[in-house]
Amino acid sequence: MSLLLGKPAAQQLREKQFQRVNNLRAKDLIPRLDIILLCQSLDESPYVLAKKKACEDISIECVIHQFPVHTSQSDLLHYIHALNHDPACGALICQLPLGAHIDTEEVVRAIDKTKDIDGFHPENMGGLALGHSDVFVPCTPAGILYLLRYYNIPLLGKHIVILGRSRIVGLPLHLLLSQKTVGATVTLCHSQTPHLADFCRRADILIAATGKAHLVKADWISPDTILVDVGITQVPDPNARRGYSLQGDIDPEAGEKARAVTPVPGGVGPLTVAMVIENCLKAWEKRLD
Ligand code: NAD
Repeated sequence: MSLLLGKPAAQQLREKQFQRVNNLRAKDLIPRLDIILLCQSLDESPYVLAKKKACEDISIECVIHQFPVHTSQSDLLHYIHALNHDPACGALICQLPLGAHIDTEEVVRAIDKTKDIDGFHPENMGGLALGHSDVFVPCTPAGILYLLRYYNIPLLGKHIVILGRSRIVGLPLHLLLSQKTVGATVTLCHSQTPHLADFCRRADILIAATGKAHLVKADWISPDTILVDVGITQVPDPNARRGYSLQGDIDPEAGEKARAVTPVPGGVGPLTVAMVIENCLKAWEKRLD
């Protein structure tokens, strides 16, 4: 079994991104990422802190607009509209998930599609489905494709099985990997799929994005299978410094048996963050057109 580490791939991207930031600055564009976050404390959101750090590492300004968890839908839409119209804001994320009192669909639709670097706006998602190249591809799917290509894993004609159909990972990943430029045959499984193990056994590449710790067992895969573990579940662990450890969707025995596997943490995660930066730069570079 070999480990598909995310950091070297992310580092390769970062070097090119740093150059792109300099190019923008040379043309008097100051790239900036705006993140709207509803939370009590920033410490609750390690993902946002990771995005901020990634920005700072390559001199992209990151502005976090932090509001209380109980912020109303209309106030949230008001903040989004203000940033949509602010020329200093070129890339905008409203960090999900939002509370149950918020209509997430409406929030996603409200973000200017040219600033929607998460790629969740219906026009970006629809463009991805139609194979348009000028849309923002959601960051985790884009990161997974980058990782597979970085490790020269053949995709053309391969059978890729995805577990999970969320708008953030599974659904856009299905759209991305089904494109002609990738050439894979993709099966999308979910919580209502019967006989999940049978689908997994037919995969050349199995991508698990369910958030169900250690769901994929060793007898679900063959020794030739490539495993991509997207899942991150916090499991109480008295021996861990923070009192919990992070577990992926793939049982360690399955990882041992496979040809290759992405670790959790340190596999897909660094690429997701790298793709946030990639999409942010893409949004700013469109201003040069
Ligand atoms: P989600 O809860 O929105 O979706 C989970 C999906 O898994 C659903 O489509 C559901 O049908 C499917 N599912 C649940 N149980 C299943 C089962 N037993 N068998 C088959 N399918 C099942 O979650 P999400 O936002 O897509 O995230 C999934 C996981 O990926 C989470 O652990 C999340 O933390 C992680 N994640 C990691 C990254 C990263 O960068 N590494 C990025 C995004 C999400």
